[in-house]
Amino acid sequence: MNLNQQQKKAVEFKDGPLLILAGAGSGKTRALTYRAAYLIKEKGIDPQRLLLVTFTNKAAKEMKERVNKLIGANLPWAGTFHGFCARILRIDGQAINLPKNFVIFDEDDSLATIKQAMDNLKIDNKLYRKNNIKACISAAKNELINSLEYSQLARGVFGETVAKVFREYQRLLKEYQALDFDDLLMLGVKLLKESGPVAKKYQEKFQYVLVDEYQDTNKAQYELTKALVKKWRNLTAVGDFSQSIYSWRGADFRNLNNLQVDFPDLKIINLEQNYRSTKNILDAANQVISKNKSHPILKLWANSQEGPKIRIFEAGDEKEEAAFIAKEVKKLKYKDCAVLYRTNAQSRTIEEAFLKIGIPYVLVGGVKFYSRKEIKDCLAYLRFLVNPKDKVSFDRIVKLGKKQLDKFLEWKRPTYLTTRKILEKILEITAYLKRFDEKDEEDLERLENIKELMSVAEEYSDLNEFLQNTALVEEGDSIKENKNAVTLMTLHASKGLEFKNVFMIGMEEGLFPHARSMMNRDEMEEERRLCYVGMTRTKENLFFSYARKRLYFGFLGSNAVSRFLGDIEENLLESINDY
Ligand code: ATP
Ligand code: MG
Repeated sequence: MNLNQQQKKAVEFKDGPLLILAGAGSGKTRALTYRAAYLIKEKGIDPQRLLLVTFTNKAAKEMKERVNKLIGANLPWAGTFHGFCARILRIDGQAINLPKNFVIFDEDDSLATIKQAMDNLKIDNKLYRKNNIKACISAAKNELINSLEYSQLARGVFGETVAKVFREYQRLLKEYQALDFDDLLMLGVKLLKESGPVAKKYQEKFQYVLVDEYQDTNKAQYELTKALVKKWRNLTAVGDFSQSIYSWRGADFRNLNNLQVDFPDLKIINLEQNYRSTKNILDAANQVISKNKSHPILKLWANSQEGPKIRIFEAGDEKEEAAFIAKEVKKLKYKDCAVLYRTNAQSRTIEEAFLKIGIPYVLVGGVKFYSRKEIKDCLAYLRFLVNPKDKVSFDRIVKLGKKQLDKFLEWKRPTYLTTRKILEKILEITAYLKRFDEKDEEDLERLENIKELMSVAEEYSDLNEFLQNTALVEEGDSIKENKNAVTLMTLHASKGLEFKNVFMIGMEEGLFPHARSMMNRDEMEEERRLCYVGMTRTKENLFFSYARKRLYFGFLGSNAVSRFLGDIEENLLESINDY
């Protein structure tokens, strides 16, 4: 086994609550995977009795594959918190009066419903932004506060407006038999807290619960975990304070400390060797993160070489920055490169530069596959079939044409049809594909996307299962994999991943650290953690770039160099402007 002493200890830890607390690249995820394999193979635990929770579906898939490689068995219960909740709610939701065929609303559907709620209440959408209201509701749900409790807590005109919309929004969701993402967690907790028999069933079932990236759990996820391990108490959590980057979604790294309160017999294992990065990168990352005061900084050492210095490029403007990245990337293996940025909008100039000279890339988390119009149209038909109360899907179908609608409503679905056949049939009777012109480049892409959807449909012959799966795909779960392409993504999406070459772009005050964090100590510390996460994705070559002038959201600005670069000692850095 390729494990060090401490990892081995964690893998073979007997029973009871365990926390693996360690810095980036120290093999936490590896230890978790090996532990799953060890429990099944050496301890004879039935894979059905093991629950593994990770941050993205992609990470879950990777873990499944790794465990499969190690022992040739499948992990039937590996996924995200949201996916897990969707699954138990589908099986047992009736215990808390959920309809059997509930649909899961994605971000767009939820926003459409918020807007509907605001219209119903005649709330001026210029005065109040639906996104702001949605964010408040989402934050409340992550704190397990329902709409009635929210009303009692609400203060001020804005608070009371949110409270009103919250109640109306919930009423609509109920009418449509729909749950939003946050409901999945909140109701998952409710199911385990309010239904004795159901709670008992899952507490009995999951003899071991393993959770990766525990520093980014919010209250709902924390409570869920706690409820699940009540009987066996075999929780293995993995985390690093310095990598908590989702507080804006209610995540709280203090949950790592709370574990010690809830489980006084919690065993903590520290891993201290970093296997990922060169010494230079690790030193620099430590210099950046050590400025944080509100949480412990876990020590790491590396056996690796010093490695190349960290290279810094100063560009005249954002176009020059992009041209520089394109030029550098060309010298490397595309697959080994990642370009990381603070906000999604920054990808555009890089994409343009790449397109110009034909560098293949994968954009993670841009317009997501399942948010594309043609895909949403197809899914709306399917969702409506399963749940005729889904008004958001219905509205969508209506917009596709009256004749098509009538034909669709007339159709009686034979129960034996597989998802793929149903989809084909719908496309046929609504003549949906006829809208596209194969000679048009954009249309061709749409047709290809629908084909891609067909192949996903092939995997899930049961329509309900298919819909559940498509609803829960998230940032980081790129559909097209294994291409020899550069990865473009936000720093947030890069968590847990690693690349030989990393480019962190837009290293400017106001951009990164983000302008919003300037006046707030906690937020600044979170930006710093984000910088640490980005840097520690790198195995070998780390590049920073910034622009003296930048056109950003239509404004030409000039920013100072990011303070994070100033925190790194000169001897680790190298300017590569004049080569
Ligand atoms: P992060 O904090 O970024 O999530 P992590 O602590 O989960 O990182 P892993 O992703 O598990 O770290 O491991 C980092 C790298 O080190 C991987 O490439 C992994 O294969 C390798 N690695 C981990 N442990 C060992 C070991 N004992 N021997 C050799 N390589 C190892
Ligand atoms: Mg990890």
